[in-house]
Amino acid sequence: MNTSGSAFTLTRTIDETNFDVAIIGGGITGICVAREAASRGLKTILFERDDFGSGTSSATTKYIHGGIRYLEQYDIAVVRESLRERRVLALGAPHLVQQTRFIMPAWRWSKPPTALIGAGVLLYDTLAFDRNLKAPDSLRIPHPRWLSRARLLAAVPWLDQTGLQGAFAYHDTLNIHPERLLLAYAKSAAGAGAVLMNHMRVDDFISTNSDRMVIQGVEVTDLLSGESQRVLAKVVINAAGPWIDKVLGKLARGTGVGVDRSKGVHILTRPLGGPGRVTDAVFARAQSGRHVIVSPWMGKSFIGPTDTPISGDESSVVVDPSDVEIILDTVNSTMRAEEKKLTAADVEMTTVGVRPLIRATHAKDSGSKDDGPDDTETYSASRAHELYHHVDHGVDNLWSIGGGKWTTGRATAEEMVDALLANELKGTHSRFFDSRATAAAGTFAWAEDAEPFIVDAARSMKVLGIPLDIGEHIARLYGTEWTRIANVVEQSPLSAARVVADCLDIEAQIIFAVADEGARTLSDIVDRRLVIGTLGPVSDDTLRRVAIIAGPLLGWDEAVIEDQVRHESNRRAVISMHWRTPVEG
Ligand SMILES: Cc1cc2nc3c(=O)[nH]c(=O)nc-3n(C[C@H](O)[C@H](O)[C@H](O)COP(=O)(O)OP(=O)(O)OC[C@H]3O[C@@H](n4cnc5c(N)ncnc54)[C@H](O)[C@@H]3O)c2cc1C
Repeated sequence: MNTSGSAFTLTRTIDETNFDVAIIGGGITGICVAREAASRGLKTILFERDDFGSGTSSATTKYIHGGIRYLEQYDIAVVRESLRERRVLALGAPHLVQQTRFIMPAWRWSKPPTALIGAGVLLYDTLAFDRNLKAPDSLRIPHPRWLSRARLLAAVPWLDQTGLQGAFAYHDTLNIHPERLLLAYAKSAAGAGAVLMNHMRVDDFISTNSDRMVIQGVEVTDLLSGESQRVLAKVVINAAGPWIDKVLGKLARGTGVGVDRSKGVHILTRPLGGPGRVTDAVFARAQSGRHVIVSPWMGKSFIGPTDTPISGDESSVVVDPSDVEIILDTVNSTMRAEEKKLTAADVEMTTVGVRPLIRATHAKDSGSKDDGPDDTETYSASRAHELYHHVDHGVDNLWSIGGGKWTTGRATAEEMVDALLANELKGTHSRFFDSRATAAAGTFAWAEDAEPFIVDAARSMKVLGIPLDIGEHIARLYGTEWTRIANVVEQSPLSAARVVADCLDIEAQIIFAVADEGARTLSDIVDRRLVIGTLGPVSDDTLRRVAIIAGPLLGWDEAVIEDQVRHESNRRAVISMHWRTPVEG
């Protein structure tokens, strides 16, 4: 295969054992730290126990946003930082983001009342004062405006009309496929020299242990091969998101660092309002005080999130029937009477993630029920991030990162690497790197309109027999790496075939995923390299087809292929069966 273009090389053996920085966790936070550290010239390695982005980072509402809702908690600093980052991330990967108009309906009964919502929308706009700096046309964000009732209903016909006054319309940025944008940052990190390893769990720290514990590296196990390894690093960053406390548990000494976890669920349904009719995202707040965002996504409606505290010690969570019920009840209660309500039968798939929240020093005071959802003190928890320097806890060479948002991953990473260079890595040779003005790997150009690039790329692919709609799909998701998919098709024209009829993914993407994008399991391929796994159920036949193409590259014989298909099929069935099965008793 022609390997021209930027390559995301995934090293399965670590040639070196001495690094400047070892990172635990390959979510958006860890990946951004790897990109920042390697780009500044630090010898960097990252371990992810599952796949890159497979944790919370792939279970989001899919927005790079300021978080207008956090203004209710007066979290102005988080909103301002997020709005700044919204622009930075959009300019750095214009093909993978899309400006989206948000509609926030106002009813007579709305809480907060309409005037206050309006004040919030204006403040949101003011805090985004630099939103259009250097932005090309497609990424320019207009000022918010008031939509009359008639205009609102023309845009969103399914809304409950009783007491409906109109709506505020403002813009945020859709993260079209968070999994692939995260992968683009991973490729940036790898391109700058970082070693990134998935399915590698950090099992322990290597340390000297006396009064002070001095961390010297980590012990890791490859969960697919079973092999273990020791890797030395001058400093270790614990970027395990909602699981930073579990990682710290391996120290066997108190650090006082905790994390609050909350479960967030979304459902994917038929498109509300009819296919292609609603192009705006709707921020629908019901009389219960709960809200959901109804987003048009890949021809369907993506609705959520929930926000429920996780009280136990669970390391993974599942979607319960009550989670789906809450979302359905909330969205249905904002619909007009004539509208066909959503039912469980309309739910094509669900996503679930665990929010990493800074341990609350404040709990939501009881307040009246109407002030918001009554069982969700995490709903009002800050989305700020925090760096914990464990030198303060008698442990040298170890940092943990708490809280944060997908949107602020880059900013957190910049802060983290600044702190390393001011502390443990002071004096280490480093170089200048400005992640605020550097495009993610595969971006055709920083701060330019994506459409001309996508159209051109699709036309070029057409010459190879790839239909225009598929070419556009590939250019949008892979950026300049479309040429590498095209190379695969050139070598093997049959790989231009669709994986399934109703999805734009083609077989060449499977080959590229394994050969160049570090995919090691069926889930890595269908859920995070291709989009097919995020659009609804994937049949066993499709899984088998993917496995037969990927198998030879991964060293799978027929028996392993069948085993992989069975495993992935069961995993998917358990996820969807759990919430569909009524709880007894
Ligand atoms: C429902 C929901 C909706 C959201 N919507 C948005 C949104 O629209 N916009 C936004 O900006 N933010 C959103 N967020 C927040 C955002 O998703 C998270 O803040 C962010 O993804 C956290 O990233 P992370 O890297 O810190 O954690 P994660 O993505 O969870 O990454 C941590 C990684 O560490 C790994 N790990 C754990 N232990 C080990 C170990 N021992 N060895 C190796 N690896 C280990 C895990 O496998 C995991 O992949 C949302 C969150 C949720 C739950």
